This record gives sequence, C-alpha cells and structure tokens, in this order.
Amino acid sequence: MDTSKTVIVSNRLPVKVSFIGEKIVYHNSEGGLATGLGSIFKGHKGLWIGWPGAIIDEGIKDKIIEDLCLQRLVPVFLTDDEINKFYEGFSNETLWPLFHYFSTYAKYNKEYWESYKSVNQKYADEILKVLNPGDRLWVHDYQLMLVPQLIQEKLPDVSIGFFLHIPFPSYEIFRLIPWRDEILNGLVGADLIGFHTYDYSKHFLNSCQRILGFQSFSNQLIVNDRPVLVDAFPISIDYQKFHNLAANRVLRQHEKTLIERKGKSKLMISVDRLDYSKGILNRLMAFEQLLEQHPEYIEKVIFLQLVVPSRDTVEHYKDLKEQIDQKVSNINARYSTMTWQPIYYFYRSFSQEMLSAIYKTADIALVTPMRDGMNLVSKEYVASRIKHKGVLVLSEMAGASKELSDAIIINPNDIDCFTKAIVTALKMPVDEQIRRMTSMQQIVSKFNVYHWVRIFMKRLEEVKTLQRQLS
Ligand code: UDP
Repeated sequence: MDTSKTVIVSNRLPVKVSFIGEKIVYHNSEGGLATGLGSIFKGHKGLWIGWPGAIIDEGIKDKIIEDLCLQRLVPVFLTDDEINKFYEGFSNETLWPLFHYFSTYAKYNKEYWESYKSVNQKYADEILKVLNPGDRLWVHDYQLMLVPQLIQEKLPDVSIGFFLHIPFPSYEIFRLIPWRDEILNGLVGADLIGFHTYDYSKHFLNSCQRILGFQSFSNQLIVNDRPVLVDAFPISIDYQKFHNLAANRVLRQHEKTLIERKGKSKLMISVDRLDYSKGILNRLMAFEQLLEQHPEYIEKVIFLQLVVPSRDTVEHYKDLKEQIDQKVSNINARYSTMTWQPIYYFYRSFSQEMLSAIYKTADIALVTPMRDGMNLVSKEYVASRIKHKGVLVLSEMAGASKELSDAIIINPNDIDCFTKAIVTALKMPVDEQIRRMTSMQQIVSKFNVYHWVRIFMKRLEEVKTLQRQLS
C-alpha cells in the first residue's frame, strides 16, 4: 500500500487567520491556486505548510496549530521583523521588481537577504518535521527559492518540485542580484522546476549555465550528475467555476445595474492589483488618446477600471496610486458630459460574484501589464463569456499571451498601437469576436488549473523515475 504523501509549501496558507476581539477567525482563500492544489493535497493524505497571514502571540500558537491541523494545514509563524525583511524586504523590494524588469526599483540590502535565508531555513525546518522518504514536496514561488536545496541535502529520496508564479527574467537582469549563485543553487535542489512559459524556462537555464556553469540538454539540467527537469506549465483557472458563475441566475441584480449603467455604450474593463507591473498608467494614456483622436467615441464607451488595494504605504505604490487618481480625474474632468462619464474607477476589492457580473457584461477587457508572469484575469474574462462574444486586448508581456493568441496582442509601451487596438476591438464584427473567443475558450477550458496540477505531478514522478534509473 502506498503510504507516501504530498506536501505543499507556499509563503501563505490558503487560510488567513484574523481576530475579532479575542476570537480567532479563519478565512478560506477563494483563489484558483487554493482550489487547484486543494485537489491534490486533500486527495493524497497531504499537508500544506505556510504562514497563516498574521503575527500570532505566543500564547495562542498551540490553539492555532490545533485548529489548522484539522484542515491538514501546518502554520509557519513569522515575526514582525521577518515580515519586514524577508517578505516586504527581499521578496517584494528586491525579487519582485527585478523579476518584473523594474530593476531600478530593486533594493540590494544585506539584512533583507540574511532574513530571506533564515526564513527559508525556518520553512525547511517545518517541512523536515513532517516529510518522509518517498513523499512528494511541491514548493511555490519566489519567497521560497532556497527551500529545495535545504530539503534535498537532508532528504534526497523525496521528490521535490518547484514552481515560480512570476516571470523568470533574462540573465542580464538576474545577474544583478549579489546573491544570484545562492538563489540558483537553492532552486536546483528541486527535481522539477516549473515556469509559466517556455521563455522563462530558457532564461533560467541560461542563468544556470552562465552563473553556475551547469550544462543543459534540451530541458534537462545536469546538477552534479543528477538530471533536473526544467519545463513550462502555464497556470490556469477553474474554468467551469467562472463559466457557471456567469451562467448563474442569482447574478442578475449586479448585471442589471451594470447593464443599465452602460446603456447603449460599449463597456471596457480592467481589473488589476495596484502594482507598477500592471501598466495602469499606460492604459489610461491610451484611453485618453482614444477620446482625443476619436471624438466619435465620446458618450459611446465607458471604461471601468478596478484597482485592488495593495501595499499603498510603500513609496512606489503610493506614488503610483496618486498618479492614477490624478490621471483618472483629469480625463473625467476633460471629457465628461452632462449625461456621461468616461471612466468609472474603483479602488477596492470585489467579490468573485461581482467580478463575474463585470466580466459577463464587458464588451472588451483590457489586460495590458508591462510584465506579468501569467495573468489570470484574462482567462477569467474568457471563461465568463458564455455567449462567446467580447474582445480581449492583451499585452505581449503577459505570460497568458503565449496561449491566448486570438486576443488582440499589444505592446503596452506603444501607445499609438494600443489606441488602434482599442479601436479595432470597438469595431470588431460579432462573427470575428465569436471565432476568436471560442478558440480561446477551448484552450482555457482544456488547460485548466486541475490539468496544471495533474501535469506537474506527473512530470515530477517521471523525473524521479529517470533519476532512479540513472543512479
Ligand atoms: N480578484 C479578486 N477580487 C478583485 C479583483 C481581483 O478576487 O476585486 C482576483 C482575480 O479574480 C484574479 C486575481 O485576483 O484571480 C488576480 O490574479 P492575476 O494573475 O490577474 O494577477 P496578480 O494579482 O496575481 O498579479
């Protein structure tokens, strides 16, 4: 009988702990990743290890461990200092900007790096308490890039997978990190290293060759005689969930309000977290240029921009928020009429039901990041178009553009082309919309998040078998 288990480790658990007075409250994540991974960790006597999302007082740690244990979750408790230096610091002020090609925003701070190392060790210690030879470990994302090596050194008989949820940059960018060797050595402790796109995996192999001198043959990296597989696994969404939400009758009230508001105008939408990588300002510039160069669209198009609050006390984010606020009010002040306003701008988060109503009602979605590992909003929009109409304008800098080639693909830095793409979207004949949307729907529904999990786990098993045959 197979007694092995699958252990998932990510910076955050799929459950967030918070407090109402003395009372402990647990909120489950609604995200696609939690749903997709839930399907394997629950099914394989699995465990999920991660931070519970809050600083926890010593006195209640045992109670939280006990409560989470019932859901097969293992908390890693982080201190205030660790959150500042490991998470806000090295992860979000060094790795995030650099991996998204905002290299001038990246801070190279030795204290941040020391904290990153010690917190990765802390996660590894928790993992080692529960992991046995023969088990599978799947490590997620840029916060935990040192974990694979820390585990491989202690337990070589475990299958270790690593998946990066953000882009892996070209060697010329990656080499800027003072601790680049340690990071690559950390990653190659895994047996399978996954990225969203083929390009990211090529960048990684190139860095391994140039920095560590490791040879690779096709997508196999040779690490001290151990073959390590490096491959593309484009993440996706729970297609059926979005499709069903859009088809659900209960949504009608949200939809009714939106449909009334839009009247005969075309509705364009964008949904982003507040982040410089999302290209919100360039998009506003393109929309402004549309109104300037094509006055025939005044009173004929409404742009609904949702921005989900994120890190707005951090300098670059605070500045960005101010610039967006200003740009939106300038455009509205300049172009509004007594009966029409060009931009509806919301700075808050919305429920999935509300998002679904927005996706379902929008004639056009503008998903135009400067750089994005994948971008799930584009796939959610596609899944929500139950009548197969609608146009997706998608940045070539989003990983999703590799799969969704029937979108109108743009370079978000080219504002003229961007404006033209909006005009093309506004004018696109219905039969062309249906042809493009149906083809994208086939891709997103087939390669959904469950497929992503299945294929990754299958490849992990294959590479372990290959290693055993060679040893
Ligand atoms: N989202 C949400 N509420 C909102 C806005 C967005 O739950 O008000 C979700 C959205 O459905 C999507 C995710 O946030 O699943 C954003 O993922 P994406 O890959 O597009 O960008 P990220 O924020 O991860 O960089």
